[in-house]
Formats: sequence, C-alpha cells, structure tokens
Amino acid sequence: MLTLVLNSGSSSVKFALLDPRSSEVRLSGLIERLGSDAASATLKTGGEKKQVTLKDGTYASAFGLIAGELDALNVRQEVQAVGHRVVHGGEKFSGSVLLTPEVMAALRECIPLAPLHNPPNIAGIEAAQLAFPNLPQVGVFDTAFHQTMPPVAYRYAVPESWYTQHGVRRYGFHGTSHQYVAQEAARMLGKPLEDLNLVTAHLGNGCSATAVRGGHSVDSSMGFTPLEGLVMGTRSGDVDPGLHDFMARQAGLTLTQIMTALNKESGLLGVSGLTNDMRELEAASARGHERAALALDLFIYRLAKTVAALSVPLGRLDALVFTGGIGENSELVRARTLGHLGLLGFKLDEHANQRAVRGQGGLITIPGSTPALVVNTNEELMIARETMRLVALNP
Ligand code: ADP
Repeated sequence: MLTLVLNSGSSSVKFALLDPRSSEVRLSGLIERLGSDAASATLKTGGEKKQVTLKDGTYASAFGLIAGELDALNVRQEVQAVGHRVVHGGEKFSGSVLLTPEVMAALRECIPLAPLHNPPNIAGIEAAQLAFPNLPQVGVFDTAFHQTMPPVAYRYAVPESWYTQHGVRRYGFHGTSHQYVAQEAARMLGKPLEDLNLVTAHLGNGCSATAVRGGHSVDSSMGFTPLEGLVMGTRSGDVDPGLHDFMARQAGLTLTQIMTALNKESGLLGVSGLTNDMRELEAASARGHERAALALDLFIYRLAKTVAALSVPLGRLDALVFTGGIGENSELVRARTLGHLGLLGFKLDEHANQRAVRGQGGLITIPGSTPALVVNTNEELMIARETMRLVALNP
C-alpha cells in the first residue's frame, strides 16, 4: 500500500511516494520552474538520482511525468491514494478531508486568507484529480492542527468585525510538522502523548513554535499569516504594527514594498546583510562578522522568549522539541536557546547536543533537567498517514 504525497507550489511540485506503515520512500522528487518552458524534474529512486526535462511547464505534464515513473517502477497498482499538502484551511477545516467537490468549493473560499499559497495548491489538486482519476485524494492542512487553540490564544485585540467579517484571527502554520514531532517526542520519552505538555520548535526557513497540551495545539507563534512570531530566514517575525505607517511616510514606501521587505528582506538576512542560511551565519559569526553575530543573537533570544511565553498555557513544561533544518542540525542554536531558559529548568548535555545532527535525534539534556530533544520532522510521512486514515474512514 503506497501513498503519493504532493506539495504543489506556484512554480514547483515536491512529491514523495511512500509506504505510510513502514515509512519507506519508494520515489521522491522536485519539479521546478513550472509555468516556464524550462521546467525540469529531479527524481530519486533508491540511491539513484536523475534529471528530466518536462515537455511544458504545466501541472498536467508534471503529474504525467510522475504517473510515467509509477509505471516504470511497476507500482501504479499499489498506489492507494493521493495526499495533498494545503497551506490554509481557515476555520473550515480542523482536520484532514477527502477532497470532494464541496470541499474544493470551501477551499476556494479560503483563497483570500492565503492568496499566494492556496491557488497553486488548488490548481495542483485539480490537475492530480485528472491525472489520477481513480484514486481518492485527501487534503492535509498546515493550519488544521491549530484549530484547537482557544479564543484567548487565537483572537487579536482588534475590532470584533475584523474577525467576524474578514476572518482576522491567529491560525498558526506548520501544523503537520508540530503534530508529527509531538507524537514522536512522546514515543521517544516513553510517555503517552495525552499526558505530555510540550513546546515544539520548528526551525527551518520559516520558523514557528507551538504549545502542545495532551497532543493538542493550544497556542502557536505564527498568527494570521506565517509572518508573525519568531525571527526567520527572510521574515521579520513580530514587529510593531505602527512601523508600516511610519515607513510609508518616512521612506515613501508603498504597503506592497513594506510587506515585501518584511517577508523577503528581513529576518536573518536583513539583520546580517549576508545570508538567510544558518550554516553560513554561524561560520561568519565565528570569523567575527558582527552583523552575523547580531542576527544569531536576535534569532536565539526571540526563540527563547517565545518558548517561555508558550509555557504559560501549558502550566507545566514536560519537554522542548527542536525540529526543522536548524532545529535538527544547529547545536549552537539549541545550546544557546537552552542557555537563556535556565528558569524553566533546562540543563544541556553538551556531548548529546553535539551528537544530535544530520538525522540523529535524541535527548540533549542531562538527567534532572527539563528534557529537551531533537526530533527529525517528516511532513510527507504525516501526510501519507493522514491520507490513509481518511481513506479507511471513507471506504
Ligand atoms: P525549509 O523550511 O525550507 O524546509 P529547512 O527545514 O531545510 O528549510 O531548514 C533550512 C535551514 O536549516 C537553513 O537555515 C540551513 O542553514 C539550516 N541548516 C541546515 N543544516 C544546518 C547545520 N548543519 N547547521 C546549522 N544550520 C543548518
């Protein structure tokens, strides 16, 4: 039994064919430059990698190529379902769903909430329904896991009509990853998830942290959009909303230019003036690059403050989980974040922290400390499992 997992973006499709039970990946790849006549695919099977040029830049030819690979591998008959990553489900979706025509209509209603992400997600689903007409298709939302947040966590203190008429509230993102690493952390700690109060920190190019009580999200650092919260690769995270008007008047920037700067020219890149890549920043900071050092300091300080804030709704913090490219690999970010969090009882195990890199997860604190651990996220596997769960519920 195999599941095809698709993540359709505006110019790319990331995909994986995997067995949700054994988590074995049979085929994976990235199709890039869609929408242009230079579209190409990188495919990985077993240990082998190959590059293929597409005949045009449409989703149809992207999925035609994947279908052809399924035939070439002789696994088409084993594929049971297609799972799609969908960025924004608004308040309509608190869990994964079978993508019926009614659900597709509801998804279109969520477009204003995620105008950049949801249209390509929808176009990808429609093309996959044509390419794989006999397979059930399931949508797994980045926002769904956070629909358990209570109003005190999800409402902004703005006029109520902004919420009731326009849906302005905190939604939270990276839900698939937070849910997956919370489950894995419980397994690694040998305790039932229902009994655990966790903060999970997903630190990749986008970064967010979530308070997970008994397996349910009760608060998260990203809000109405993925711009809120932590310092990220190119996103500012929290800023004073008053600066938009100030920069418009003072620097003559349009709202679009301000939003572009906050999304694409801020964060680690904006502060360092160098790069949004944590590896390069760590190296530059070690060489004495002052702005790189400041970017790191800001990233870590704001992360630690957020972890402390997210322990408020938990009452008791049983463990902190690091994941994402930075969380899984940067011993420096982890060590220095825990260094700020002595008040929550964290005591680093330096050797364990150094060992937890390149796919090696585990506990990074000493006995007697509040546990902190590194868990490798696997959003594709989570989407595949969710997809098969939904298919089993709707035979
Ligand atoms: P995305 O959010 O795009 O999926 P990833 O989760 O792959 O991104 O995370 C990318 C980030 O992880 C980059 O900032 C990269 O520098 C960082 N990273 C990867 N490996 C290391 C490492 N060994 N040390 C520090 N940072 C790392």
